[in-house]
Amino acid sequence: MKDTFKHRGMRNKLADVLVEKGITDKNVLGAIKTIPRHFFMDSSFEGHAYQDKAFPIAADQTISQPYTVAFQSQLLHVKPGHKILEIGTGSGYQTAVLLHLKAKVYTIERQQELFKKTKLFFGKMGYRPKKTIFGDGYKGLPEEAPFDSIIVTAGAPEVPRALMAQLKVGGRLVIPVGAQDQIMTLFYRKSLKEFEKKEFGSFRFVPLLENKN
Ligand code: SAH
Repeated sequence: MKDTFKHRGMRNKLADVLVEKGITDKNVLGAIKTIPRHFFMDSSFEGHAYQDKAFPIAADQTISQPYTVAFQSQLLHVKPGHKILEIGTGSGYQTAVLLHLKAKVYTIERQQELFKKTKLFFGKMGYRPKKTIFGDGYKGLPEEAPFDSIIVTAGAPEVPRALMAQLKVGGRLVIPVGAQDQIMTLFYRKSLKEFEKKEFGSFRFVPLLENKN
């Protein structure tokens, strides 16, 4: 696959669509304009890569819709050097957006096939997360905690306690919560014991699965 002038043009148009839908963060829009999303998808979907839609990837999973990726990324308030935990590596597209924002990314995937494929892909493309981990993100990553922010990219029937515990004070957890549809939810850690919760719109994700390895 190649990244051409035409692809770049389509990415700029996609960024315009996201602006119309309410995305304002310039750095996030810059990531959308830069990252070749078609590289993260099966070649049979290449022609659709710059539509604002989710598409199938390996192991019955999906690459999230660009709007969703942009919305979650914007809610994280990423600053260069932030230590971020991502649950649900999937295609690696969200990871690449966080890397573009100069975060140190730790990413976890529970589907072995996807984990292997995406880890290899990161190497080939020169994307360098701090760690790409095969495992159950429900438990977070206690050995690397605390994090400036945590992003969950699968629908969580309930908020995993471990993830709340692994946030820094002042940190943000962005997680879609719900069984069928999910409400995008932000938990801001005000102090060791206090969290402020804010709810955003409704989204649809593949499920966050617990203990299925
Ligand atoms: N960020 C990804 C989204 C992929 S879909 C992208 O843009 O491509 C969500 C991913 O979460 C799937 O790959 C799924 O296998 C993974 N997942 C589901 N439950 C998980 C868990 N408990 N731990 C880690 N990953 C999980």
